[in-house]
Amino acid sequence: STSATTTTTRQVKLDKESELRVEVGIETPLRLRLLTGNAEIFGTELPPEIWLCFPPRHKFAVFTWYGATIEMDGTTETDYTADETPMVSYVNVHAVLDGRRNRAKMSSTTDPNTSQGPRVIVVGPTDSGKSTLSAMLLSWAAKQGWKPTFVDLDIGQGFITIPGCIAATPIEMPIDPVEGIPLDMPLVYFFGHTTPSANADLYKVLVKELSRTLERQFAGNAESRAAGMVINTMGWIEGVGYELLLHAIDAFNANVILVLGQEKLCSMLKDVLKNKPNVDVVKLQKSGGVVSRNAKVRQKARSYRIREYFYGLTNDLSPHSNIANFSDLFIYKIGGGPQAPRSALPIGAEPAADPTRLVSVNINRDLLHLVLAVSFAKEPDQIISSNIAGFIYITDIDIQRKKVTYLAPSAGELPGKFLIVGSLTWLET
Ligand code: ATP
Repeated sequence: STSATTTTTRQVKLDKESELRVEVGIETPLRLRLLTGNAEIFGTELPPEIWLCFPPRHKFAVFTWYGATIEMDGTTETDYTADETPMVSYVNVHAVLDGRRNRAKMSSTTDPNTSQGPRVIVVGPTDSGKSTLSAMLLSWAAKQGWKPTFVDLDIGQGFITIPGCIAATPIEMPIDPVEGIPLDMPLVYFFGHTTPSANADLYKVLVKELSRTLERQFAGNAESRAAGMVINTMGWIEGVGYELLLHAIDAFNANVILVLGQEKLCSMLKDVLKNKPNVDVVKLQKSGGVVSRNAKVRQKARSYRIREYFYGLTNDLSPHSNIANFSDLFIYKIGGGPQAPRSALPIGAEPAADPTRLVSVNINRDLLHLVLAVSFAKEPDQIISSNIAGFIYITDIDIQRKKVTYLAPSAGELPGKFLIVGSLTWLET
């Protein structure tokens, strides 16, 4: 539109313990800077006077503990200040975790239990602010010199890598409020779907693989063991979703469970975990600033995330279009297909699809517009237990010439021989 051409620089004065909540306009970026005082965005302090540029649609809050003046330049969907926030309760949680990290660090490193820092899992319904709280706890910890591990089990709206994956990465610096977590080299497992119900058993297997890999890393690294982890989860908390939460708590041996904005979930978890005295279940208030996102907005966010992987946040990356012969690509999917023929089953039993069966996929036009993961596996039977190197995007299939055109982060050979396909699609826009 041409109506919003006037310059719109303005200043906002924030009182102590209040925040400026911003939704950037849908077309143009917003510039913002700290003029006086101190302020942070989700746990990361703003540098004084330096302009930060937030992309369209970005939603965030600038919070101040002692007061600050903020300057904004550009158009917003909304911006308003709020003096009722749950930040004091959140930072109190951080203080308790910090104490536990110190205790873990002081203890003899030979005892795997006392030298283990807090393993925090953040749970709650969709749009309760789980990712935001996870980011805050990690950034506050990193600011104090810890290197906690961020584990993201949210395959729908994850923070670490593209949708359809679970991932972990050490957080060594407060998370950049614009760039987020660098997408470079986290530990990633590919589920291939954006909802766990597509194959809940596979989801569990991958969660277990990720937890085992981290456990091995912690065993050899006292520093990261003491720093502990923060685990972000999905907003699906009913039925199978609840079962998957319990599975994650168990797989990662979580000992601090932060429940955002849901009494019922909190009391259910307290009840099932009452025999585990070392596990604390803590209820926390949801922030009034959390923005609800409908299915369409979520779908869009997923698409931007995939775009960002290939092109960068500001189109700063140049992916490469590659062409391969059908015979050069070894594509697998996990799950599906009957486990055994009906004749081999007991009378009356239905042939169940084996959720973790590896199925070789023939190349045809069904693969068009799918995002595939490149596995680090050396042999097909290692595919399920292997993490992945990166992703490719199928842009053309030429059946006659038996050629596949795909987009990859760079030219040249792929970092692995085997590709995994699920139902993750993307329409390049
Ligand atoms: P999901 O349902 O995907 O699991 P979630 O519970 O993790 O969601 P968040 O992603 O943390 O929720 O928050 C949803 C949106 O609200 C995000 O865009 C986030 O930046 C924004 N948000 C969170 N807290 C605030 C706040 N205090 N002020 C403004 N925006 C906020």
